[in-house]
Amino acid sequence: MASEFDLIAKHFTRPAAPGQLGVGDDCALFVVPSGHHVATSTDLLVEGRHFFPDVDPQALGHKTLAVNLSDLAAMGAQPLGCLLGLALPRADDAWLAAFARGFHELADAAGCPLIGGDTTRSPSLLVLSVTVFGVLKPSEALRRDAACVGDEIWVSGEIGAADVAYRLLDGQLPADAQRLSAVRRALEWPTPRLALGRALAGLAHAAIDISDGLLQDLGHILDRSKVGAALRYSALPASSGLEGLDEAVRRRALLGGGDVYELCFTAAPADHARILQVAATTGVRVSCVGSITERGGLIVLDDRGRPLPDLPQGFDHFA
Ligand code: ADP
Ligand code: MG
Repeated sequence: MASEFDLIAKHFTRPAAPGQLGVGDDCALFVVPSGHHVATSTDLLVEGRHFFPDVDPQALGHKTLAVNLSDLAAMGAQPLGCLLGLALPRADDAWLAAFARGFHELADAAGCPLIGGDTTRSPSLLVLSVTVFGVLKPSEALRRDAACVGDEIWVSGEIGAADVAYRLLDGQLPADAQRLSAVRRALEWPTPRLALGRALAGLAHAAIDISDGLLQDLGHILDRSKVGAALRYSALPASSGLEGLDEAVRRRALLGGGDVYELCFTAAPADHARILQVAATTGVRVSCVGSITERGGLIVLDDRGRPLPDLPQGFDHFA
């Protein structure tokens, strides 16, 4: 195995941004603009749990950072930098080079350079951990506890494709190469909605990124804000990759499917036109899918205004 230091120097050392101290010292240093707070979040990815062992390493490098940047987006924060923890069962140079390419390409695009980390050998599984740092004005943070009764509920982009891709790859759905090619990108190359999140900061009320399924993640906003919600099923922005699927599979993908990394957010109805304007400016589709109600849980209404029975649950690691 190449020494840990060679490996870090070759694949994970990039020039630091001006004013930053990056990889190579005991700690990284970065500047926080005055009047701003640091937003930070960390996510773990474990082989066999969060990704298939044979996943394309470049896609994995991208996704490892993307899922963390998505948390910054959902808070309305501007990225500053990130840390990468690696527990590697082996040091495969070609694999690491591809992983690093996927990681750094997104880091560069997002303005979130890798400024440090830790590298160790793992006895069995590959484990990845990223910690991101961003900045925001605290008064503009898109907190989960900020939804108000009467708010409209919005969802960015399209949803459902990642769940279908996962189930096709996992064998839970019958093999369908054409459909897999239509939905696979959503699972392996998610786009963190950073520009949208930044533009919504100070405008939208509550926000969350859809990592565990729309109902479960919106449920976190409802719990924290002590409100309820009514969603319109037909207003959900279903991915075109869901066309022709069995209704039960489609419904589970839309309402319970994880790994989406689109934003679900709430905003005052008076700001409806401004939200559409922000979406146009950032080039991200947004759909108004329901509204926040007084306490009373989360219901999903069909075209005739009747609640759907038997709603799917989202993903819970310990369920
Ligand atoms: P320490 O002994 O202080 O933990 P290390 O020898 O682990 O330092 O790391 C040396 C330098 O390399 C540090 O600046 C650390 O942040 C950086 N580093 C280690 N692993 C990674 C990695 N996977 N990605 C980016 N930087 C890393
Ligand atoms: Mg270390």
